[in-house]
Amino acid sequence: MSSPMEAIKSEKRQLLINHVTEKMTSNQTLFKENEDAIVIFDLEGHIVQVNPAFEKLLLYTFAESIELKLQKLFPIESLDMVFHYFHKASFGQVQNFDCVMITKQEKLIDLNITNIPISADDKVVGVCASLKDITQVKKKKSEVRRIEEFHRVLTEHVLDIILTTNIMGKIHYVSPSCEKILGYEADEIIGQHFSLLLHPEDKEKAFKEREKVLTLLEDSRDSYRYVKKDGSFVWIESICNPIVDHDTKNIIEIVSVIRDITERKQAEEELWSRKRAFRDLVEHSPDAVIIAKNEKILFINETGIDLLGPERMENFISRSILDFIHPEDHQEAKKRIKSIMDGNRTEFKPYQIIRFDGSTFDGEVKGIPTFFQKQSAQHIIIRDVTEKKKTQELLRNSEKLTIAGQLAAGIAHEVRNPLTAIKGFLQLMEAQVKNKTYFEIIQSEMERIELILSELLVLAKPQDLKFEIENIQSLINDVKTLIDTHAIMNNILIKIVNECKDLTINCDKNQLKQVFINFLKNAIEAMPDGGSITIEIKQYSEEKVKIFFKDTGRGIPHHILKRIGEPFFTTKENGTGLGIMISKQIIENHNGSVHIWSDNKGTIIEVIIPVNNGLTI
Ligand code: ADP
Ligand code: MG
Repeated sequence: MSSPMEAIKSEKRQLLINHVTEKMTSNQTLFKENEDAIVIFDLEGHIVQVNPAFEKLLLYTFAESIELKLQKLFPIESLDMVFHYFHKASFGQVQNFDCVMITKQEKLIDLNITNIPISADDKVVGVCASLKDITQVKKKKSEVRRIEEFHRVLTEHVLDIILTTNIMGKIHYVSPSCEKILGYEADEIIGQHFSLLLHPEDKEKAFKEREKVLTLLEDSRDSYRYVKKDGSFVWIESICNPIVDHDTKNIIEIVSVIRDITERKQAEEELWSRKRAFRDLVEHSPDAVIIAKNEKILFINETGIDLLGPERMENFISRSILDFIHPEDHQEAKKRIKSIMDGNRTEFKPYQIIRFDGSTFDGEVKGIPTFFQKQSAQHIIIRDVTEKKKTQELLRNSEKLTIAGQLAAGIAHEVRNPLTAIKGFLQLMEAQVKNKTYFEIIQSEMERIELILSELLVLAKPQDLKFEIENIQSLINDVKTLIDTHAIMNNILIKIVNECKDLTINCDKNQLKQVFINFLKNAIEAMPDGGSITIEIKQYSEEKVKIFFKDTGRGIPHHILKRIGEPFFTTKENGTGLGIMISKQIIENHNGSVHIWSDNKGTIIEVIIPVNNGLTI
């Protein structure tokens, strides 16, 4: 027997079932075909109806379902909430909430539940719960959260700056590393135009690059300068990526990853300037520098081109280095090249070097292993030692000359003493002899010997500079005396034309004599078949006098003229090539100057020198 209470309950349940069945038949599809699971509870929480989606979701058959009560479907910890909403629905309110349910296989599934009260005859008779499976949505949400978190960690801890801008160029987001690199906090630049960060000189380039990204929708990578908050700048490399909306194909924003490359730039610059310095060093080296690989020339500097050529650079490239070395030295040179290739450096060694035109010169060659265009190669230095050899030769000669000079001085002394004695005795003899004609001749010849000896002495001993007032005419006469015999022997006549008598100059007479002797000797040497030398003295101005040495010799060819006066430049077999240089030097020390004119009829040397008018020096 059922109690009256139970009778009421079962009556309500029957009412509900009738109501539901009636509604269901009227709206079959909505119920049966619904994607969402639908379950209908009576007010006691007993299931009275479920749709196929429910059976599928919770894995209970219809028959099993109607045996179930609400609490069987939820975990204990959710029951309070579930009852709360169920209760509210039984009072006519539609409720929606997220909750976990338990399937027949005791699997938990995430659902979004909507409770809708079911009324019949204005009375709530049951609750219809529509269950939406939100497992996937939840999964997606948590995945989105995970990705967001991942991006947050990434952007906040990455050392590069991550910056996003809208298509107008306004900054949307900037990662915290911005403060470290540029000194700006995110708040200070968000909302500003990105050009705020650009170095004025790089703005155009950056705008162009951005334009490319916007129009071609492609990534771009470039480096320029960014201005820091303190006004200084840093070199950055920026990679810009447009973020495009899949559906509309519009750009949503541009993401830039910005890296501080100042240090790299500095290192690059340093490397570059070192390379340039090295290149300058090689290019302007006074020695010929060749870079070769397996004897073949890869590079030659300007000095090398001049020394071995002159020829065009291309004509050197790929030629064998041995082409420029005398065949006698080839075996030795090959051995040395091999040694350099093995990583050894070789010291300077003398070689006969052959130029492009086949002429040769004395050289010294050294080799060092090196790298050229990332390959191992040989760095070869060639030095022209012709001048060095000449200097050494001259040094040896001048050593000899000094000794000869000293000897000359000694001899002059030695000769002078007996000469004085001879002179004395000659005077004695003169007193006893009647015919004195010969004696006068002997006397004058003796005086001449004395004069030459004293000049020899002066020239032999280099002395300190001694400026004194000297009569120019007598200075020239002295020199003429000294050189006359030599001139006459060569069939040369020396004439003096003086337009200004008694002119004096302030000078070191020994040095000036040396100068004049040099000029006269050169003139004599230029006239092997004889001729004449005219020494002209002319007042040039109030302060200056001109002295010309004019010869009738063979002259100096035009192309040689410009080299006259270079140390050691000589056209003579036994010449020193020092005479003109030293003479010029001496005249310049006297505040004067020397000029040379020459043609095939002879040479004119002009010396301009200040006169002593009581004012100068
Ligand atoms: P060196 O006499 O030892 O050769 P110099 O310096 O005195 O050295 O002269 C250099 C060169 O100048 C000579 O070798 C010669 O060719 C040329 N030279 C000098 N003076 C004359 C001259 N009067 N006539 C022709 N050539 C001259
Ligand atoms: Mg000379």
